[in-house]
Formats: sequence, structure tokens, C-alpha cells
Amino acid sequence: MNDDAETLVRLSEGLFEIGVLPYYLHLLDRVSGAGHFEVEPDRIELLQRQLLQQLPGYLVPRMVREIAGEASKTPV
Ligand SMILES: *Cc1c(COP(=O)(O)O)cnc(C)c1O
Repeated sequence: MNDDAETLVRLSEGLFEIGVLPYYLHLLDRVSGAGHFEVEPDRIELLQRQLLQQLPGYLVPRMVREIAGEASKTPV
């Protein structure tokens, strides 16, 4: 996921303007070669707080992770 609050706020607002509800924000699938996209837990918490402060609730995406074998995404 992108780790910059201002960018994520603009993304949610922009998606809503074109009729898309941004309801998931996916954390990294830990696959080979993607390590530089990892976001640390402290940073994820900070981003969640920043998005909650700057967006109406319906535009705050749920941060989730895909875990192999799980029937649904897992909220983080
Ligand atoms: C997550 C996911 C779904 C299910 O979406 P929900 O909104 O959680 O029901 C379906 N297809 C794909 C490819 C997905 O990644």
C-alpha cells in the first residue's frame, strides 16, 4: 500500500468522484521481490489515524491483508 496519508486522502476522494467506493486498502502480499513495499505496523496505525481525521468515515478504506487459506480478507 502507499504509505503517504496525503496521497491516500486524494486517492479516496478521487475514486469517490468517479463513482468508486474505496473500501479496501491492501497490505503487502509478502512475495519475492516486493519487500520494499512493506509498511511497518506503527506506520499503518499512524496512517489509519490520519485518514480517519481527514476523510469522512465512508471514504476511509479498511486496511486488510490476504492470508492464504482464509475465506475473507483479514482486517489489520
Ligand atoms: C477480496 C476479493 C473478493 C471478495 O471481496 P469482498 O468485497 O470482500 O466480498 C472477490 N474477489 C477477489 C479477487 C478478491 O480479492
